Parts: sequence; C-alpha cells; structure tokens
Amino acid sequence: MADAWFDTTPEQDLPWEGVMPGPDLAAALAVIDPHTLEVEACMSYAKACDQLSSWSQAQVGLALAAAREPVLRATGGITVDGHVSSRGESWAWDEFAALLHLAPMTAATRVHRGKAMWHDHPRIGRAVQAGELTWAQGCALVDAMQSIETSPTNDDIDVEAAHARMMSTALDQMLTTAGRYAPGRLKTRMLAAIIRIEPTAHKKLHQRSVKRQTGIEVWGLSHGMATLGITGVAVDIDALKSLIHSHAQDLRFKHDELVNTPHTPIDPDSADERTVGQWRLAAMLEVFGLAPIGMPASPVDPARVDGSRAIANIDVKVVVDLPTILGLVHTPGEIPGYGPIDPELATFLAANGEWTRWITEPVTGHLLDDGDRRFPTAGLARFIRARDMRCAAPACGRNTNLDIDHIPTWAATHTTNAQQLTLSCIRHNRSRDAHGWNTPAPHTWTTPTGRTYTTVPHQALPRSDNPDSASDDEPIPF
Ligand SMILES: [Zn+2]
Repeated sequence: MADAWFDTTPEQDLPWEGVMPGPDLAAALAVIDPHTLEVEACMSYAKACDQLSSWSQAQVGLALAAAREPVLRATGGITVDGHVSSRGESWAWDEFAALLHLAPMTAATRVHRGKAMWHDHPRIGRAVQAGELTWAQGCALVDAMQSIETSPTNDDIDVEAAHARMMSTALDQMLTTAGRYAPGRLKTRMLAAIIRIEPTAHKKLHQRSVKRQTGIEVWGLSHGMATLGITGVAVDIDALKSLIHSHAQDLRFKHDELVNTPHTPIDPDSADERTVGQWRLAAMLEVFGLAPIGMPASPVDPARVDGSRAIANIDVKVVVDLPTILGLVHTPGEIPGYGPIDPELATFLAANGEWTRWITEPVTGHLLDDGDRRFPTAGLARFIRARDMRCAAPACGRNTNLDIDHIPTWAATHTTNAQQLTLSCIRHNRSRDAHGWNTPAPHTWTTPTGRTYTTVPHQALPRSDNPDSASDDEPIPF
C-alpha cells in the first residue's frame, strides 16, 4: 500500500458536499436513492456515508465514555472510596456486553476506546466527529496512546507533567497528517513517536510482553486443519520465518534433484504438487524428524538431507537512522512489518552481520543506504525495492512479485531515474491503464470514476516529529 494518500478530487457541487458529519449530513443523504446517481456522484455519496458512519461510531464512543463511570460504580468496579476492583469491572463489561450483543472483552475494548477518545484525548474524538479522521484511524491513534498509558507511571510530578506535554505535542503533530495514513501504518507511526518520548516505559512494556505473551498455541480449524501459533520477540520470529523459508527451498530443491536424476525411473506416484505452504510445513516437521502425513512424504527423507545446511538466504531487515547508528541520538528503529523497536536493539541489530541494515536520512526518514550502495541498473532496481517496499497504488498492499514501474510512463518521459521509478504489483503495472487508472505524475493517481488521489512516499523510518517530511513535493534523496 502506498504509505499514505489523500483525496484531491474536486467537489462536484453535490448537496451533501461540505456538510459536516452529523444530523444535517444524515438528513441530506437520507432523501437520496444512490441508485439514481451517476457513478462520480455515487462514489462521493458513499464517502459521505462512511464519514457519517465514523461520526456515529464516535457518538457511540462518547456515550460509552459517559456511561463508563456510573456503570462501574453500579457494578462495584469502582468502590465508594474510589478504588478499582477487577471483579467489579468484569461485571461492568458484562453489562455493556449484554447491551451491545458483544463478548465481554470486546465490549470492554469499546468502552476503553470511548474513554480514550473522549476523556483522555478528546482531540481525537473531535477529529473523528468532524470527518477529519475515519473511525479506524481514530482507533489506531488511541490504541497506540493506550499502550503506553498502561505502563507504570513515574512518581515525580514534574516528570509526569513534562511527559504529558511531550505526548500531547506528539499527538498534535501526528494529527496534522493522520488522515492520510492507513490505520495500521498510523498506529506504527504513533508508537514510534511514543517510544521516542518514553523509551524506558516502552522497554518495560516490552519486557512484560515477552514474559506474558511468549509461547506456542494451537487453534483448531474446520475441515481437519489446525494452526500452530508461535509468539515471541519479533526479531526472533522473523529470523525463524526466514530460516523455515530457506529450509523449505532447500528441501524442495533436493526433492526435485532426486526425482529428476536420469538413472531414477520416474514414479508417477512421486509427482509432488505441494504448495509453498506445504513445503514450509514439511521443512518445519523435518527439523524434528517428522514427515507430513496429510500428503505423500517427500522422497527426501531426513537422513538423506545434507546435515551441513548453511543458514542461508536470511533476509531480515532493521531500519535505523544515521545519527542513531553513529551514537549521536537515540531514535527508535523499525523492523519492517513489525513496527518500532527501541534504539539500543536497533543499533545492536544494525551492527550484526546477519541483518540487512537500512539507514535513513534523519530529517525526512527516507532511505539513504540499502546496505552496500551499488546503484547502476541492478543496484537501482534493488534500491527502488528497498525504498518503496510495496505497490505504489493507493490501498494496494502487495509486497511480493512487484515490478519496477515508470510513473509517468517511460513513453511519456523517456527517462529512467529513481524519482520516476516505483514499484507496482503485476496487476497495477500491466493493466491499470486498460482499466482506466492513470498516473499522470509521480504520486498522483486518477481512477476510472474520476477521483484523484495523491500518495505519499514510503518512509523507511517514520518521522512523526516532522510531519511535513511526508508532504507532496519532498524531493526523494538519490
Ligand atoms: Zn498493486
């Protein structure tokens, strides 16, 4: 997914355009049957309905926040002397769960979010109410803010006040561009900002999570399937995943070698059509001397696999900014796909030869160095892949099987340089023109229904303290 995008479609003089979400917008929309609208107007109508839905969700959150304390008092969740009772709280969540037809924990989450959005950080509630943020974007922000507020607080009142000011400033800065980001990315950016302010609290939370969450679980699925879930520190899990993938490729390669040996008669029963996922499971089982029983076992039995397999093809990345790696400041790093990590761990991993180190420019957060700085042709392609990571189309999240793509088209510019190259998935590269999607300029997409979206370059390392760095005309350092 493009890291961020925003709607730059001109208004069409429709009756609901410019109406604030709320009763007036509901009234304007309710009298119209969207089936009677042309597609351009219908898309605008759908967007207005979605804004109304976010407004409505914010109102529910406001009501839950208002009801929270009286219900907690009624159920004994808050005692008369002001103490919190977890048993009494659980009765409060039952009360809300019965009201909303939800599981108690889901109801508790909704009440917590309502409180966070309206009592703790009312600017978020107001932004959702005004249609500046979607409900999901508002939830992403409060979830990130709540994650740090559950940490042990500091007893020093001055330190607490300074901390609250910094958190408030970080939220203000985040809100200036929050509406551009998909919720997952927004939460990652907010968490990175919080780690910068509260590295110690983050470290404590991390240590507590390591103890509480590390483990292995199994979930039963339908049709005789089950899931094995392994939870642990992201860097360990990512390394494990890379090893499993590498091991699976190795196993499959050896299998193909054996099957295709000229002196081995080809046995039709040995035809193996396992998917990538099945090979990966086989690789995991093989480590423990097991063979899959749901499919015919590979002719490669564990004893015939070369035991000296090297730890190969590990492709685990850590992104860290230049001043941090030089030891001048301590900015959180990021494991792409897993979110921010504290500066010490980022620096340690960046110095470890088994990790691919990406260094970012400290002001813009854009990628400076993808490890060894080899740029001509293949190097340029590698740089583009490292810099952009995902398909550049708004709302497309593909990060595999990506083509290097000219935007605008090569035919239009006859130039090839980093500023005009980006990544597109096969569908968006090869058939977007045929389906009416156009990219007249870098970061500008027009759709078949006439809408226009401006995308924001991916920041390898989010820089919440410089929101303008994500702005439209930022030159891409190259
Ligand atoms: Zn795509």
